[in-house]
Amino acid sequence: MIIYDTAIIGAGINGCSCAYFLSKANQNVVIIDQEAIASGGSGAAGAFISPKFTKGGRLKELLEEAYLFSLDFYSTNFPTYIQKAKLLQIANSDENEVRLNAFKETTTLSFSEDSSEAEPILTPYAKESASLVLEEGGVVNAKAMCEALAEGIDFSKEKVKSLHYDDGVWQIGDISAKCIILATGSYDLVVEMPYLELRRVWGHRIDVKTTTKVPYSIHHHLSISPSSEDGTLAIGATHNLHYNPFGDEKYDVEDGRKELLEKALKSVKLENVEVLKDYVGLRSGSNDYLPIIGRVVDADKTMDETFKPSKLKKMSDDSFTHFPELYMINGTGGYGFVLAPYLAKQLTEYITDKTELDTELTPTRFFRRWAKRIG
Ligand SMILES: Cc1cc2nc3c(=O)[nH]c(=O)nc-3n(C[C@H](O)[C@H](O)[C@H](O)COP(=O)(O)OP(=O)(O)OC[C@H]3O[C@@H](n4cnc5c(N)ncnc54)[C@H](O)[C@@H]3O)c2cc1C
Repeated sequence: MIIYDTAIIGAGINGCSCAYFLSKANQNVVIIDQEAIASGGSGAAGAFISPKFTKGGRLKELLEEAYLFSLDFYSTNFPTYIQKAKLLQIANSDENEVRLNAFKETTTLSFSEDSSEAEPILTPYAKESASLVLEEGGVVNAKAMCEALAEGIDFSKEKVKSLHYDDGVWQIGDISAKCIILATGSYDLVVEMPYLELRRVWGHRIDVKTTTKVPYSIHHHLSISPSSEDGTLAIGATHNLHYNPFGDEKYDVEDGRKELLEKALKSVKLENVEVLKDYVGLRSGSNDYLPIIGRVVDADKTMDETFKPSKLKKMSDDSFTHFPELYMINGTGGYGFVLAPYLAKQLTEYITDKTELDTELTPTRFFRRWAKRIG
């Protein structure tokens, strides 16, 4: 019987990126998904690779590093599945203009204000708005990239309902593994984590055919990809905080298309547009907007009779009880394709080489906040 080094639950961009780096580190890995590779939020993504155009903070710094890392990673290892082009960011409100100007002052990325190649197709409104151009942006073929990352790695189709740990080995149905990574996106968390709530944001994007040639990735009220050779491009995505695909309400695809086209036409004079395909899915974000990677705290075992919430501040993360060899990667929100390779590499090194993880990103931060509140 095989005992895998690691079983990864979830075959989205986060799970597939972990599988890639772990197998490069000579681990024997299996990916388990209830459906197929990129069947969740990842398969719906426009998968634009861009930083966050805002004034500062941890998320901006992280996304700037991840943007550079991931552009290089995808272009070097999987050039077929990334389309690179200049990236034109246009402010879509006064507040957004303030943030864009602050970005210009603080960013380490080089940029220009020369959007001349895109000028002929921009609307007067887009031309008048503050903007900047990055030399490099990218748009990933989401499903193909996930499949390429997972190529050669064992895959098992199964919905994981529970996990059992016995004698140093995790058991998931017939699969045995020394270590587990939960990469379950917006779905249920599989193990009890009362301290963690995810923000689920529904999104819709479309592929269209148009006679207008778009030379850049354009980000304004939404994102428009550069045209492919066959005249198709991606437009995305909507942010719908209220729609829950697991509820009874049916999603109105026509409404979503209308919103996407109206917003795209605010920026670009797209002509002879035909919608080819719709993609819908959930993003999974955290309450503080930062991604989540690291070991999973066992709240039940940590909160035993010796636990004192008043001592939380002084307690190190290591003093909490964690599920044995159980890790997670999640909370990448609308930036999963930017963050996943960057985070998966860090998580791999943490698992295989015992390197440090940024404590601002570990699940433990949510345990601390929750334990303080309920204690
Ligand atoms: C419309 C839309 C547009 C987006 N645009 C961009 C963009 O332009 N750029 C960008 O960087 N990001 C974008 N994103 C965000 C990005 O797609 C997400 O951050 C990313 O998909 C998260 O990946 P994931 O692997 O965590 O989750 P998912 O892709 O949802 O994968 C989770 C997987 O886990 C499986 N699973 C869950 N529970 C179980 C279980 N119990 N047993 C077995 N399998 C299970 C599911 O079947 C699923 O395949 C977009 C997202 C959406 C929805």
